[in-house]
Amino acid sequence: MHMFLRRLLKMDMSSRRSLLFTKTEMPGHDIAVPFICRKCGTCCMTYIPGFKAEDLITISRYLKWPPADLIYRHTECYLKRIRGKPEPCIFLNDQKLCRIYKHPLRPSDCRLYPFSYGGTDADCAAYLEHARVVEAVLMNEKSFEIYDASFCPNPDVRLIPNSKWPEIFRTLRLLNVSRKMIRALLILNDAPLMSVITCFLLYG
Ligand code: SF4
Ligand code: SF4
Repeated sequence: MHMFLRRLLKMDMSSRRSLLFTKTEMPGHDIAVPFICRKCGTCCMTYIPGFKAEDLITISRYLKWPPADLIYRHTECYLKRIRGKPEPCIFLNDQKLCRIYKHPLRPSDCRLYPFSYGGTDADCAAYLEHARVVEAVLMNEKSFEIYDASFCPNPDVRLIPNSKWPEIFRTLRLLNVSRKMIRALLILNDAPLMSVITCFLLYG
């Protein structure tokens, strides 16, 4: 089976729920546009979240990092950030990945980024792609509500009518968006099989 379809079918409900998205609600249906992080680490180069001391101790056990050293390094990095001289987060590893990504104490500022506090980030290439898709799917809509996963993380959607999918595919092709974005958009919107096959034929 082609890689695109195989990956699509492998995306289960839990991975669907872990996606960040912007949801646009039209009168009869919704369109959820996924945000696909490119794992470039840029946003962690100038940001470090605050933690309670006891949480840092828990994290130090998880990372096998001496607690006194971790607390010292976190405090130093955090103070530099709030004094306007930010450095990379101490939890960013050499591969530009977060060492506490899967830990439950990773704060919501990080988990919901770039939507934390309703914010946006023009330095995040993934956010710019996301914003272009949101703008494009709304272009011909007269009435809609819009919110992102930081406001309501529930990914349930009212289904997109079959007649709308060709227009959505045209838009995605025009914008030349990544395959990951297309795959996640199909999954998030519970696309009917015919639409998935059409997409496969267009992008296969
Ligand atoms: S959120 Fe954006 S800037 Fe941060 S790692 Fe992902 S793609 Fe890079
Ligand atoms: S805790 Fe992780 S996700 Fe948050 S800023 Fe640090 S490296 Fe980035």
